[in-house]
Amino acid sequence: MALPPDRLDRFARQIILPEIGGAGQVALAGAHVALIGLGGIGSPVLQYLAGAGIGRFTLIDDDSVSASNLQRQTIYGASDLGAPKRAKASAWLRDFDRAIEVATSGARMDETSAGQALGGADLVIDGTDNFATRLAVSDACVAARIPLLSAAVARFQGQVAAFAGHRADQPCYRCYVGDAFDAEDCDTCAENGILGAMAGWTGTFAAMQAIRVLLEDHASFGDPQWGRLHILDGMTPGMKTIRIAKDPACSACG
Ligand SMILES: [Zn+2]
Repeated sequence: MALPPDRLDRFARQIILPEIGGAGQVALAGAHVALIGLGGIGSPVLQYLAGAGIGRFTLIDDDSVSASNLQRQTIYGASDLGAPKRAKASAWLRDFDRAIEVATSGARMDETSAGQALGGADLVIDGTDNFATRLAVSDACVAARIPLLSAAVARFQGQVAAFAGHRADQPCYRCYVGDAFDAEDCDTCAENGILGAMAGWTGTFAAMQAIRVLLEDHASFGDPQWGRLHILDGMTPGMKTIRIAKDPACSACG
């Protein structure tokens, strides 16, 4: 597959990077990303992945835009208040680049719906703020053998990690958090507070890591860093990385 001249022109500044190159750009154009959660993390993820030339998105969110979202959810404006985020995110995407294919879903992610909604994706990115959803999404990814990029932010700490729990030697998200959080929501922005730039930093870094995952076997930038948790500290500020072990007793991937 070769890219037409208008696409080569659009992505010229990243194709010239030897770590991405023409082969990497073709891989990104052929990639299908399912993005769950179109909020403070999902907004910059969508902007930078669309900017990078990802060819196809499935956007999953059941929420509507409210006034308190606007300090961090950068794809929405005042005229979007009250509208479903998936519709407005899809409209943003169409305006930004008509060559991108987009599908949307308002399904709540549980054991059954996640498997249906995520099938066929090359990468699932979870930017939701709800542990029950995250675990259901992770389990569905392990079952469907789809890589998962998980990104979360609370107060001044962000966390980003790529999981390939379907691989024998790699942990899944459930290996990391255990089964303890199955019950219901633990932390939300409403309870803990969030600075928009902190969500933006975390989401932008998640977009970087997503591109690494999608370029595995296509370009030298493609080191997915499976099972490594990157912790972004907005107070120091700084970053550190820890390795997550696979739990042999994990109910999803063990
Ligand atoms: Zn696991």
